[in-house]
Amino acid sequence: MADLILFWHRRDLRLADNVGLMAARERTPQVIGAFCFDPGILKGDAVAPARVAYLVGCLEVLQTRYAKAGGQLLVLQGNPSQTIPALAKALGATAVYWNRDVEPYSRQRDTAVANALKEAGIEFRTTFWDQLLHGPGDVLTGAGAPYTVYTPFWRNWIKQAKPAPQPAPEGLKSLGADHHGAAEQAGCIPLPSANDLGFNWPHGFPIKPGELAAQERLESFCQDDSAIGTYDEQRNYPFVDGTSRLSAALKFGAIGIRTVWAAAEEAYQRSRSDEARDNVKTWQQELAWREFYQHVLYAFPELADGPYRPQWKNFPWVNNEDHFQAWCEGRTGYPIVDAAMRQLNETGWMHNRCRMIVASFLTKDLIINWQWGEKYFMQRLVDGDLAANNGGWQWSASSGMDPKPLRIFNPASQAQKFDPEAEYIRQWLPELRSLDTGWLVTGAIPKREREQVGYPLPMVDHKTQQAIFKDKYRAQKG
Ligand SMILES: Cc1cc2nc3c(=O)[nH]c(=O)nc-3n(C[C@H](O)[C@H](O)[C@H](O)COP(=O)(O)OP(=O)(O)OC[C@H]3O[C@@H](n4cnc5c(N)ncnc54)[C@H](O)[C@@H]3O)c2cc1C
Repeated sequence: MADLILFWHRRDLRLADNVGLMAARERTPQVIGAFCFDPGILKGDAVAPARVAYLVGCLEVLQTRYAKAGGQLLVLQGNPSQTIPALAKALGATAVYWNRDVEPYSRQRDTAVANALKEAGIEFRTTFWDQLLHGPGDVLTGAGAPYTVYTPFWRNWIKQAKPAPQPAPEGLKSLGADHHGAAEQAGCIPLPSANDLGFNWPHGFPIKPGELAAQERLESFCQDDSAIGTYDEQRNYPFVDGTSRLSAALKFGAIGIRTVWAAAEEAYQRSRSDEARDNVKTWQQELAWREFYQHVLYAFPELADGPYRPQWKNFPWVNNEDHFQAWCEGRTGYPIVDAAMRQLNETGWMHNRCRMIVASFLTKDLIINWQWGEKYFMQRLVDGDLAANNGGWQWSASSGMDPKPLRIFNPASQAQKFDPEAEYIRQWLPELRSLDTGWLVTGAIPKREREQVGYPLPMVDHKTQQAIFKDKYRAQKG
C-alpha cells in the first residue's frame, strides 16, 4: 500500500512555502492535513476572540486550498496527544509530520504526541523549522551560546544565507471513500465557527484571514513606491497605514517567512536610492526582532513566566486594580494612551508605537506589574504571540534583555512627536474630536472641557509617578 502521511498544521496555516508539508509531499501525494483545536489552549485565560476568529478564517481558506490541490484538511478537537495518534491509526498513516515550535507549551505537547506515536509504532518527523528563517541552533555567539542582546544577534543573523520560498504542493490525494468512516470514528468534525468554540468577535481584522489575503497584502506592501520604501519614518505614525499589518498572518503562518523575506529582498534590489534601501533594511530588522524573541524564548523558556532580570522578580509594584481596569478600558485621562487601548479593544490590533506607549504607561506611570499588561494583550490581540508579546513587554518594563536599563516614555512628548495633529487620538476618542489639538497631544485638557465631554481627569501625574518609579527602581537595584 502507498504511504499515507498525516500532516499536522498548527501555526503554519497555508500550503505554499511550508517546509514540513513539502517534505511530506516529496515522499507521497497521499498527504492528509489535520488541525486540532486544543482545549489546553482554548480553555486558557489568555485567549483573544479576535485571534480565534482569525484562526478559524485561516482554516476555512486552508480547507479550500487543500480541496483545490486535490487533497483534504481534517479537523479534530481534543488533546492532540490522543487525537493525532488516534487519527493516524484510523487512517493507517505510515507517518505523521509537523513543523517545530518555540513555545514551552507547544514543545511539551509535541513531546507528548511524539511519545504517543512511538508507542503506537507510527513514524513521525518533526525536525522542520518552518516559522523561522534560521532555527535557534543556527544563530549562536562565538562561544556557542544563545544571544541575549538583539544587535549582535542581528549582525550574525543577517550574514547568514536565507532559505528560498518553496512552492505549494500539487497533486495531493484526498481520502478514499473507505477512509471517511474511519476519520469520523477517530473524532473528525466539521470546521466549527469561532462562536461554536465560545468566542464572539463581531469586528473585522487588520488583514483578511488566510493565505491568499496575506500574499496580497505582502505584495502590495512591497510594490514599487509602496509603504516598504518609506517604512523607516512612516512606521512611527499611528495615524498612517505605514506598516505591513502582516503580524497575525505571521503568527499563524498564513504566509511563509521565506516568502516574506524574498519579497523584501526583491524590494531592496529594485530600490533606486540608498534611502529607499535603508527603509527596506529597517523592515527586515523588524523581521529579525521577531526571530530574536523566538530564539530567546526557545533558549530561556522560563521567560514565559517572569522577568529576565533577577532584580525584577520581587519588584514592589503598586498593582492598583481600579487603575488597571481604567487602563484596559481606555479611561486613564491620557488621550494617547486611551486612544491606543480603544484601538486594541475595537480592532484586536494596536500600532507598535502605541504598544510601547501604553506598556510604558502601565509599568512606569501606574506602576503595575507588566505581566498584567502582557496577559491583557494576549486576551485582545489578533496577533498575540507569546515570544513577541513577552519580549515587547519585558523591553517596555525594563525587565528583559534590552541593554538600556531604564526606559520611560512621556505620553505627551510621544503624542506631540508621533501624532502631532491628534489624528489618531481623534479617530479613537470621538468624544474629544472638537477639542483643541494642543490640548489633545499634551494631554492638558482643562477640567471644564473634560467634564463637558465626559472624559476623565488624568488618573495620575506623570512627573510624580516617574519619580516614585525611579526611587523604587534604584532601591531594587541595591
Ligand atoms: C508591548 C508590546 C507587545 C507586543 N506584542 C506583540 C504580539 O503579541 N505579537 C506580535 O506579532 N508583535 C507584538 N509586538 C511587536 C509589534 O508591535 C507588532 O509586531 C507590530 O505592531 C505588528 O504590526 P505589523 O505587522 O504592521 O508590523 P511591521 O512593522 O510591518 O513589522 C513586520 C513584522 O515584523 C514583526 N515585528 C515587528 N516588530 C516587532 C517587534 N518589536 N517584536 C517582534 N516582532 C516584531 C511582526 O511579525 C510584524 O508583522 C509587541 C510590541 C510591544 C511593544
